[in-house]
Amino acid sequence: MELGQPLILRDDVEVEHPRAGEVKVAMAATGVCHSDLSIRDGILPIPLPAVLGHEGAGIIEEVGGGVQGLSPGDHVVISWVPQCGACFFCGRGQSQLCVEADAVLFSGGLLDGTPRLRMDGADLFQMEGVGTFSESTVIPATGAIKVPEDLDLSVAALLGCAVLTGVGAALNTARVRPGDSVVVAGCGGVGLNVIQGARMAGAGQIIAVDLHPAKLDLARVMGATASVNAANGDPVAAVRDLTEQRGVDVAFEAIGSTATIHQVIDMTRRGGQAVLVGIPGLDSMLSLPTLLGVILAERSISGCWLGSSDVRRDIPHLIDRYRAGDLLLDELISQRIGLDQVNEAFRAMSAGEVARSVIVY
Ligand SMILES: [Zn+2]
Ligand SMILES: [Zn+2]
Repeated sequence: MELGQPLILRDDVEVEHPRAGEVKVAMAATGVCHSDLSIRDGILPIPLPAVLGHEGAGIIEEVGGGVQGLSPGDHVVISWVPQCGACFFCGRGQSQLCVEADAVLFSGGLLDGTPRLRMDGADLFQMEGVGTFSESTVIPATGAIKVPEDLDLSVAALLGCAVLTGVGAALNTARVRPGDSVVVAGCGGVGLNVIQGARMAGAGQIIAVDLHPAKLDLARVMGATASVNAANGDPVAAVRDLTEQRGVDVAFEAIGSTATIHQVIDMTRRGGQAVLVGIPGLDSMLSLPTLLGVILAERSISGCWLGSSDVRRDIPHLIDRYRAGDLLLDELISQRIGLDQVNEAFRAMSAGEVARSVIVY
């Protein structure tokens, strides 16, 4: 790939054998996420050339030395945040901050910083140490989460990013309580999952904000009780009108826009919590009235990384909730496409036409 240019399909990529602590995965499906587009457009960094894609599921083909509990033939969801289970953060119930995740973040490599893909005799880098826009890839074994074989892998793929992040933002990061009022700004793949996470937590009022009527309709399916089309006027005023001018208990930003982040903080009531889920560019800055906006208002502003998820605890739990009919996954898939349609999927995502496009191999 080149920055800002359509992705190029190549059939001459070499995939190395997995090294110690790694597994090779035959990809079955991968979702197209907004972060892929942010990397393509240079808003988030990666060494080039690179294979994008980070929200995937597949079947293990080969395991490297020392890998425990995973075998060829196992079905897995890929976590782009590998979680070692042994570091400072994993030991304190914050495995989304695992030190292994630091190794793969924006490095284009696996835990040792180097990729396992090669093209034209040179390194071909892997987004977040995975690179799921490929028929086969090698990833850290700590990022492969075994799932039941009867689970449709095109549905399972979504668990790896949009669902973990969105549902986790509501259940883990914000710990939404029964009866809470909630707003979610941005109803793409992640925002729709924040909405269903809030519903699963028993939130009372769930206000969806977006620019596209079709996404607001889907937000209702996911559990929104009210919607605000930000194209029709100031969304902060609209949310205040819906909450007796107080603002909501918990406000989520699921776009990664600096302007929307400021709006979401303004939608949060005194004593409430603003949760920043969407991923802005590295140059995004916050500017807040410290006394009136934060201290006197007792407003909390929380970051949210991968929905504060422990992937080995949360992925099985989410599968149970899907099977119980609580967690809607099929409804999130707008279209199933081939890898050669990835550029069209980027266009449809930018135009707000889809919740999720899923590439199936
Ligand atoms: Zn993603
Ligand atoms: Zn760890």
